[in-house]
Parts: sequence; structure tokens; C-alpha cells
Amino acid sequence: MNAVQDFHHRSIHDRDRFWKEQAASVFWETPFTKVLDDSRLPFAKWFVGGRTNLCYNAVDRWLDTRADEPALIWVSTEVDQEEIYTRRQLFDEVNAVAAMLQAQGVGRGDRVLIYMPMVPQAVFTMLACARLGAIHSVVFGGFASVNLAQRIDDASPKVIVCADAGSRGGKVTPYKPLLDKAISLSKHPPGRVIVVNRGLFEFEPVAGRDLDYAALRKQFDGAKVPVTWLESSEPSYVLYTSGTTGKPKGVQRDTGGYAVALASSMKHIFNGKPGDTYLCTSDIGWVVGHSYIVYGPLIGGQATILYEGTPIRPDGGILWSLVEKYKVQTMFSAPTAIRVLKKQDPGLLKKYDLSSLRALYMAGEPLDEPTAQWISEGLGKPIIDNYWQTETGWPILAGQPGIAPIPTKFGSPSFPVYGFDVRVIDEQTGQDLGPNKKGVVAIVPPLPPGAMSTIWNDDARFVETYFSSIPNRQVYSTFDWGLYDDDQYWFILGRTDDVINVAGHRLGTREIEESINSHPAVAECAVVGVADQLKGQVAVGFAVLKDAGLIDQPQAAMRLEGEIMKVVDEQLGAVARPARVRFVTTLPKTRSGKVLRRAIVAVCEGRDPGDLTTIEDPSALEQIKDSL
Ligand code: ATP
Ligand code: MG
Repeated sequence: MNAVQDFHHRSIHDRDRFWKEQAASVFWETPFTKVLDDSRLPFAKWFVGGRTNLCYNAVDRWLDTRADEPALIWVSTEVDQEEIYTRRQLFDEVNAVAAMLQAQGVGRGDRVLIYMPMVPQAVFTMLACARLGAIHSVVFGGFASVNLAQRIDDASPKVIVCADAGSRGGKVTPYKPLLDKAISLSKHPPGRVIVVNRGLFEFEPVAGRDLDYAALRKQFDGAKVPVTWLESSEPSYVLYTSGTTGKPKGVQRDTGGYAVALASSMKHIFNGKPGDTYLCTSDIGWVVGHSYIVYGPLIGGQATILYEGTPIRPDGGILWSLVEKYKVQTMFSAPTAIRVLKKQDPGLLKKYDLSSLRALYMAGEPLDEPTAQWISEGLGKPIIDNYWQTETGWPILAGQPGIAPIPTKFGSPSFPVYGFDVRVIDEQTGQDLGPNKKGVVAIVPPLPPGAMSTIWNDDARFVETYFSSIPNRQVYSTFDWGLYDDDQYWFILGRTDDVINVAGHRLGTREIEESINSHPAVAECAVVGVADQLKGQVAVGFAVLKDAGLIDQPQAAMRLEGEIMKVVDEQLGAVARPARVRFVTTLPKTRSGKVLRRAIVAVCEGRDPGDLTTIEDPSALEQIKDSL
């Protein structure tokens, strides 16, 4: 057993003592009396009786030692602005916002919906909610009225905080009219809307409902709002899953367990310390943004960079320039962002001084080996793949260099993270599977601290959705397909829905994608299983090329298709060979950057693609249709 596995073993087999130790990295106003209440599994309550507060741990707690150090660094390449807030300034801003929310009647347990781009006011508002014991529901700024209206109805917020507009790639997207429309569609309209007016989009405030953030900020300047101490299990926020596989689920998070999970992960997974600077390129609308733009780094006493912009504007070196400028130690990004960079000048990876950077963490989708290798060699840094879900709140599988620097394997998110009793399970029998056997990745309850407590307002759906799909036992299904090898390194092979059954052989989409991606002309690809009369299912691949020009040359495209099939034959055998490989310039993805395979399958099979409200660019699906 290596040191990481030993740590994990202790977390499961000496659970109470282990988590009591971890809980010491959080400030408790009232100590907990019991580590775990598992009397109602699969519902679990961590740190029973303990009272704490996320905002206090993220802000107040560091005022003694780090008041004048940067805490929040905002960089926008969209509006060409940078602002740095020290911990004390962050404290002042958060208190002012807490006071303005309080003045609108917001208190413990009330919901506040946040519909904002990546601006500091969004972070102040999240922390202000936490301070008041109010529950925030951040809705990704790219969502339109229908998604927004659903989330308004689900949360029935007292107040919504929004901005006039966001900007992406230099193009302004108005938020306010989308919000107005969503409110008109919703059954539970909020009493108040607070608008951050960035001067990007002119709008007419709704009289009696809309308030101006800047005016309120002035009015509440210097206000101090006492922290509302919450019992550990009281909810901190609700956040929806990305909607890659269907209707998004409203994940409810607790307070104490989440604080402990994040604080401990900053040390053991991210290998950082107070005073470091952390850059995460996700969005506050996603779980990665909640945990590792806002709460994790701040609770860990680190400075966090909030970046509004794309990875390629003004050029593909922008992220590395931020690492150099702010001496970033820890960076977190997504495979989809790195695949975008693969189409840019590779020289940009070498242009900046990256000596401060210890490692690049990546999550969100399978990180294929060719992409991992490309970026690791380009940067000369370790790549730490980590696998998790909105539901879990922090990584399930990851390299954990803060415990011990065990070498990683490209394509593998390494080992189970402490607290997660994760197994590979046969979906027919419910039995645990041994090494090198493919099955469903599942977690034996209790879910660890920081993982979801339930689905918001729907305990029955929580049990039914996550704990009822495996026969003969009540375990949490991730709905991902995977295995671990002889050295106990884990591999995620795709979603269980996407497993392809070709003439009796079961293949994860990821295995074939990995193989296609290893062809040097390919930037990224998606493989789906399509119904076939003869074979049951066949694999069909869609690839984006590094040189998009090739698509318009039928001869070259045909040659390339043949070459790619040969690569798959050699690596996986003829059974995995896609029936077709088609070339497109972009893949249909969710707004969080995940490939929407279910929509591709539907189009390939001539069916209606169904709910597409989370799609980033509908024209990508048109391309798929046209390419067939
Ligand atoms: P929905 O649950 O609504 O369909 P979603 O599953 O895409 O949406 P998220 O919680 O954002 O919502 O994504 C979690 C999923 O992303 C995981 O279940 C897994 O399929 C994939 N994933 C995340 N990180 C990794 C990783 N490092 N390697 C492989 N897959 C990953
Ligand atoms: Mg999911």
C-alpha cells in the first residue's frame, strides 16, 4: 500500500478519528459532538452539533494574519480591467453586500439566486449569503430564460442578484432582459432584483422591484454584519448538475462537511498552503467554480484569481501570462480548454516564466492520454487528473501530491480520494469487480463530508436517482463506467449510458476516443454508439482537426478517415473500429464544455435530440447532421 492508499484506508476504517483530525482545519464556533450520524443512510450527517460558517472560514478567520495580502484577484480580458482585493477589502465588500441583502429581508435559510458573469460582485454575493446563512443558487450566466425560469421556480428566491450583461470573446451578452423574461415565465418571482450595472447594456429598471447594486453599496458602506452560525448539516447552497445526460438535478450541499472537505483538499490534493495563489479557469456557475474558485482557496488562506475571458484572447498565452504575473502555484482547468489550446501556437506554452507553478489540475471530462501528454510536456509540469461530479463537491479520484508524490499515469485520475469508498461494480449482479474488469463506478455510503446531502426539496428523488440503480445493494451510482488496473490506478471510460455494445463486446466511448485522439491531425473527437441492424450497435466518430482546412478536401478527408481507423484497429482491435469517422469544426457541447453524446446519437439515429437547453452552440449539431 502506498502512502495515498494508506491515508484512504484510514479514512474508511478509522473513520471517526480520521475526520476529527481533518475537521481541525476548520473554525468551529461550537464543537461537534458526533463525527457522523449514519442512522438514516443513504442520508448522512457529518459533524453533528458543530456550528460553523463558510464565510467566516473564508474571510474573517484570515484577518489576523493575512489582512493585507491579496485574497481576490479579478482579471477581465473582456473589459480590460484588473482589481485586487485584500482579505480586509474582501471582508468590507462582503459585509456591505450582506447588509444590503439583509435590508431586503434575506436571512437564514432564505434563497438568493445569483445570475452573474465572472465579476467580483458575484463572489461577494456568494460569501454574503454564506455569512447570513442564506442559501445561494448560482445559475451559470450563459443560460437563457427557460433554464433560468426553471431554477427560479425550484429555489423560489427572495432576491435575485444579476448584472446588466456579461461578455464572451469580446461579444456582449445582455443578462438583464433574459432575467426579466425568466421572471415573467416563473411561478415564484422574487420580490427584489439587485442589478450590478457594468455599463455594458442599457436597460430600464422595473419600478418597485429592481435596485441598483452600486447605490446600495454606497448606502451600506462600512456596515458590519455578524456571522450566522449554522449547524453543520444546514444547507449552504443549491447547484444544478450540467445537464449532459438529462434534466439537471438540484444538488444540495451542507455547511460543515463541505468546509472540512475543501480545507483538507487544499492540503492533500492541491498540495498548497496559506499565502499561495490559485488560478482556476472554471466558472462560478459550475461546481468546480464553487469549490475551487471561491470557497476552497479562500478557506485555505490562499489568493484566488477570478478570470473573465476565454483561454485564447488576446492570444493562446493569456492563462500562462497570468501564472507568470501573479506567481500562481496551483492551476485548475478542463480538458476542453486544453484541447482549444492544442489548435494554437505551441510556442505560447514556453513564452512565460512558469517557475512558480507546481502542477496543473484537470477535471470535467476524461482527459485523454495524448492531450495530457501534450500539455505536460509543453509546460514541463505534472498534470493531475481528478474525477468528480457536481454531486460530490470535490474529487472522488485524484493524484494527491500533498500526501505523497506518487507518479501519475496519463489517462488515469490515479487513486480514490480519502473518504470515498469507491468500487467498480457489475451492474447485473451488484458484485464488486476486481482489477482490469469494467463496471459501474459506485460509492458505498455514507458519502463523505462535502458531498451532496440530498436533492433540493426532493429526498425521494435523491434515493431513487442515485441509490436504486444497482441490484441487490444500496450504493451510490456515479453513472460512469470504469476500471482500476493491477497497480490500483483508476480509469474512467465514459458514461454508463454511452457504453457501446458491438457484437457482444462492451466498449466505453472513451477508449475509442482516446485512440482517435492519438492521431496527430486530431484536436478532439466524440464517439457514440449508433443502433445497427446487424451488429446491435456500431461506433461512429466525429473529429475536429487541428487544421480545419482539411475538411473541405474530400480526398484528404477520406485518406484521414482510413488512417484513423487503422490507428484504432492497431490499438484496440477491429471490433472497436468506428463504422464511420466524420470531420466537423466543432462538437456539440454543454455550456460547461462536455460533449452532448446523447444528442449526437439521436441525430445519428434520426430521432429528435430532445432537451437542448444546456447546449452551447446548436449549429454544432447541424454540422453533425450534415456530415452524415
Ligand atoms: P448531468 O448529471 O446533469 O447529466 P454532468 O454529469 O455532466 O450532468 P457534472 O456534475 O458537471 O454534470 O459532471 C460530472 C461528470 O463529468 C462525471 O460524472 C464524469 O462523467 C465527468 N468527469 C468529470 N471529471 C472527469 C475526469 N477527470 N475524468 C473523466 N470524466 C470526468
Ligand atoms: Mg452527472
